[in-house]
Amino acid sequence: MKVNSIKGMHDLFSYQVQNWKQIENLIHNFFEIHGYNEIRTPMVEKAELFKRVIGDETDIVNKEMYSWEDQSGDWISLRPELTAPSVRSYIEHNMDKLNKVTKLFYIGPAFRRERPQKGRQRQFYQYGVEAIGSEYPEQDAEVISMAYNIFDMLGVDDLKLVINSVGSTETKKKYSNILKNYLSDYIHDLSDVSKHRYANNPLRILDSKSENEQSIIKEAPSIIDSLNDFEKKHFNQVQRFLDKLNIPYTIDNQLVRGLDYYTLTTFEIRSGSIGSQDALCGGGRYNNLVEQLGGKPVPAIGFAAGMERLMMALDLDNENKDLKIDVFIVAVGDDAITNSLKICDTLRNQLGIKVMMDFSRSSFKSQMRQANKLNAEYVIILGEEEIKRKVGTIKTMSTGNQFEAPLDTIHKHFDVEPSKDDQ
Ligand code: AMP
Repeated sequence: MKVNSIKGMHDLFSYQVQNWKQIENLIHNFFEIHGYNEIRTPMVEKAELFKRVIGDETDIVNKEMYSWEDQSGDWISLRPELTAPSVRSYIEHNMDKLNKVTKLFYIGPAFRRERPQKGRQRQFYQYGVEAIGSEYPEQDAEVISMAYNIFDMLGVDDLKLVINSVGSTETKKKYSNILKNYLSDYIHDLSDVSKHRYANNPLRILDSKSENEQSIIKEAPSIIDSLNDFEKKHFNQVQRFLDKLNIPYTIDNQLVRGLDYYTLTTFEIRSGSIGSQDALCGGGRYNNLVEQLGGKPVPAIGFAAGMERLMMALDLDNENKDLKIDVFIVAVGDDAITNSLKICDTLRNQLGIKVMMDFSRSSFKSQMRQANKLNAEYVIILGEEEIKRKVGTIKTMSTGNQFEAPLDTIHKHFDVEPSKDDQ
């Protein structure tokens, strides 16, 4: 019986990997010119880390983490996101000693046991940044504009940046009570999930997708009215900087985001072009997190974006027809095969040329068909006739021009442009 992959976890095929690598390179470059350095943390961390960072009451920790007890009795988890590991590493390796503001970026897989659907997998890739050390709104503006500009630069359609401020932990507490007070009149209209949240984490009800609850929430008091003067000023300055950078945004006072650790600025970027799972990227400030994890009280802000959704938005999940190889060697007969291995080796390892040959001992015709299919620029033909005369034929596929060259020096025709030697 065959064994298939795990639901919600997908293979990436070669043509997809080509596209992914291209986009990953652009993202790497983009972050590097902004002065962010890449960090690669382990796939697995202590479960405790995510419990403390993301919160016991969140769906991610409550029901979506892949966790198990390892042989030493520790509970460990596949990382469901990369902020917690990045901050753990920042603290563990005293990165604050190196720079006043530490700027990190990452690209790597994350795991959540969600219900799989279009745009939602159980293994997905996230890229993102963490800027740790600055409390100032210019840092918020840099991070938000970076998140936005990647999509804009890549040409993602129908982009929508939404921002909000949820204030400090105290403000969130104060507002939670105001919200609870308001929702108490509607408690019987709330779903079981929201009733549970009402008791444990009422702000999360603002994230509800249910139409009925949305209409209740619409009339709820706004969190903006609970912000103190400092928090209001910070939020206004973030907006001013975004205006200056020509980053278009709308304010949505219900955007609290799923994770508990956010303080002050929160934001999300969506695209109308990728279906119901329209969130491309989410982020915000987390001013208490470093301290909460045993570090100094250092403010920070970051974002995380999903690679699969980005690829979907770019409509890049198709075959890359531009792929080309330089040379295909057509060899028929034992002697020809021996010679083709040697030529292949020289072309690849001495000249760095992309060469393929047939390994299924197919007919001459079938090998020529393979060369065509692989878009080979040149074909080297080693037939029995040629081998007897110790020559090979070099054929330029676009023109059909061909000429013979001695076997022992045939590679030299590829050291320079071989077309010069075409006859
Ligand atoms: P979050 O860590 O939940 O704020 O998610 C940040 C981004 O990661 C989202 O905006 C999505 O683009 C992506 N993402 C989160 N969960 C998934 C998932 N299950 N499948 C695919 N992408 C996801």
